[in-house]
Formats: sequence, C-alpha cells, structure tokens
Amino acid sequence: MAHPLLTDIDWAATGDEAVGLLQALLRIDTTNSPDCAPNDTEAATFLADRLRADGLEPELFEPIPGKGNVVCCLRGDGTGGAPILLSGHVDVVPADPARWSRPPFSGDIHDGWIWGRGAIDMKNMVAMECLTLQLLARSGAKLKRDVIFAGVSDEEAGCRWGSMWLTDNHPEKVRAEYAISEIGGFTLHSGGKRFYPVQVAEKGMCWMTIRAKGTPGHGSLPNRDNPIPKIARVAHRLGTTRLPHHVTPVVDRFIRKLASHQPLANRLVLHGLLQAPLCGPILDHAFPEPALAHTFDANLHNTANPTMLRAGDKVNQVPGEAILKVDGRLLPGQTSADLVREIRALLGKDGDDLEITIDLEMPPVLTNPDDAIAAHIGSIIAEHDPDATVLHTMIPGFTDAKAWSKLGMKCWGFSPVDLPEGAKFTAMFHGDDERIPVEGYKWGVRALFDLVARLAV
Ligand SMILES: [Zn+2]
Repeated sequence: MAHPLLTDIDWAATGDEAVGLLQALLRIDTTNSPDCAPNDTEAATFLADRLRADGLEPELFEPIPGKGNVVCCLRGDGTGGAPILLSGHVDVVPADPARWSRPPFSGDIHDGWIWGRGAIDMKNMVAMECLTLQLLARSGAKLKRDVIFAGVSDEEAGCRWGSMWLTDNHPEKVRAEYAISEIGGFTLHSGGKRFYPVQVAEKGMCWMTIRAKGTPGHGSLPNRDNPIPKIARVAHRLGTTRLPHHVTPVVDRFIRKLASHQPLANRLVLHGLLQAPLCGPILDHAFPEPALAHTFDANLHNTANPTMLRAGDKVNQVPGEAILKVDGRLLPGQTSADLVREIRALLGKDGDDLEITIDLEMPPVLTNPDDAIAAHIGSIIAEHDPDATVLHTMIPGFTDAKAWSKLGMKCWGFSPVDLPEGAKFTAMFHGDDERIPVEGYKWGVRALFDLVARLAV
C-alpha cells in the first residue's frame, strides 16, 4: 500500500508540474567540459527559486564561479531517525547536436518522450527530488526526520566542486543516514522479463603511475636498457590479461537472482561466471553483447586499464624514463595494496624494476542490501509492476555516493523511471538522443515521493 499521504495529492497536476520542472532544467545548458564555462549555478539558482516559492529555505554554495550547489533541508522532529539526503548532480556530459535527432537542450516533448541531455542522467531525479521537498512542504505533514535535497555540481568531472566539496566543507548540511541518488530504479527488459536494478555498491578507484627507468643514450646506438620497451610490455600485459577472479557477496547474489529468472542455458552461463576457471572463457565467448560481458567482467575482477603513456621528447635520444598512467578499479573488500600486488604478480620479472605510485584512491562503496529501505523499494516496485524483479547491483564507475559514503551514509541508487521495452537505458546514459518517457517519469515522481513518505512521515 502506498503511503496515505499520497492520496491527498493531485497526481495529474503534480505530473504536469514535474514535466514542466524537468523541461526547464533541461533547457539550462550545464555541460561539464573543459571547453566551456561551467553553468551549474544557473540550475542551482533555478531550483532554489522553486523551493523558495513553497516557503522552503534553500542555500546556495558556489565554491568557484559557475560550479553552484543548492542544498535545502525540510526539518523533521528526529523521532524517525537521522536525515534522508536526496541528491542529484545538475551537470551533464557534452552533447554533440550533429549526432542528435533533436536539439539536446530543447526539453521538447515528442511522441511521449521528454528530450534532452540529462533526461536520465540525471536531471529527471533532480527535478523529482526538488518536487518531493516542495510536495512535503505543501502538505504540511509532520516529518519524523529531516529530508535534505542537494542539487550538486561537477559530478561528471569527479565531484570535486560538488558533493566532495560539500562533504569536506559543510558536512553538517548534508550528513544523513541514507543518500538516495543514481544509478538504478529503471526498468530493464531482459529475456521477456522486467527487472529493476537498484545500486547498492560501486567499485573503488585507484589511479596510479607506473614508471620504468632506463639508461638514456644516443638514438644511433643499440640500447638494452631503454625504458620504452619495458613500459610497453607492462601496458600490453595489463591491457590484455585479466586480474584474478573475485566473487563478492553483492555480485554473487546479483548473478544468482538474475539467473533464477532466466531460461536454463542463460542460467548455466551466469552460474559459470561464479567459477574462476570458467569465468574468463564465458566472458570471451558466451556473451553476444560485448557491453554486457564488460560489465560482468568489471564486476568480477579488479581492473587496471592503461590510459596514458609518456616517454621521450627527441627522436634521436633514448629517454631515461617512461611513464604509464593506469586507471585501476577495486572490488568491495579490495584495497589499493591488493591491486598493486595483483599487478606485480601478473607482470612477474617484467615488474621487478618498476616504480608504482598511487595518485588517487577512493574506496569502494557498499551498502547492506538487506537494510530496511530495501523492503520499501521492493514493495513500491511490486505495487507498480508485480511481475518485475528487483536486483541489487554494483556499478564499475563512480557517482556522488563516493562523497556521501565518506560521511558514513548508506547510499542507494534509486532514481525511479518506468521504461518501455526497447528503451535502452545504458545506451542513452551519456549517449546520443537521451530522453525519458513522460508517463514513466511521472510514475517515478510518485514512486520517489512514496519512498520518502514511508521513510520520513
Ligand atoms: Zn550521473
């Protein structure tokens, strides 16, 4: 049963209001790119104005020009526990209009879809969260706990001036028991079944520099201590070989649950992924879609992708050093030291003289999938789509959860949207022709409000 507060709301009018709010947000170009000035402040200011119109008291934080954040708290009496944070980033990745069927910042509605960069990543969620606070304020309901909305800047460039800046500089403004944000809550159609992935984990980051030293010399003479072939061997090995197989509890559970809803052949394939000797061959040969294989691959191994290579600056001079930058990602339970150990074991003697330094590390994020909130999310999905299955997922990338988890928050990726069959969430995420179905979005507005009401009213 939906929360009783929902019956007092005119959902037709609210749905239209939500659509208008999202369209307005999509029309603010908040592209996050070194090629243009940041414009997140315009979006943050716009949201603050909407909140103020309902008597709320939002605060704006702009650590550097253009990278604005809006935070707004609706107070509760605390009897229901610590606050809930509804967070979403207002910035978006670039969109090349030449590749789009419609202008990426139009916010137009066409054939039942709202078009625009950010329609699913993640201005939809930002609009729903802002409206959730407005609806709660209008209802006059007494809250059992604070509900905080944070529309944050800069996520698409690593969160520095957004969630990271807020957790470092104003933790008291955002600290909460739960942080609800991306990536999950959308309908995933697979094998004639419907699933709702809900993010409960994300891999950690370990960006590193690998240095090979050598003996510099003239390019006309043979040189057996040239660092370029040494670093090239490392890059080749890292780029073509898997690191050891690890089945973490969250992925074990995800795969088993997904498998239980699949025909026998798929089930066998999925169970095979959980066994070290079978996993690699299955990933390489049994998946028709490489993108799907890559996701499973990333969820079952630490990864170390060579991404930048630098050596020498004169054609006739052997350099004394060659440098490889590596984007390492860690499974829950793994540390940077574990990853370096795995890399050294993989390289064997080729790794003996290498210097490996860690440039940036962020631990994995993991929340308990059996937390009380899981039952609420499960029943909201079950009411809406009784035959669908909720899957608790891990993403290989990062979100603002990296920042929120530093304050001990339980991070849940639940940004609900009902997608029709054929809509490819993952292809639209950072892809061309990003759009959201009007009706599926309106359902999301109601689902998110229902969740917050269950937790806070
Ligand atoms: Zn996002």
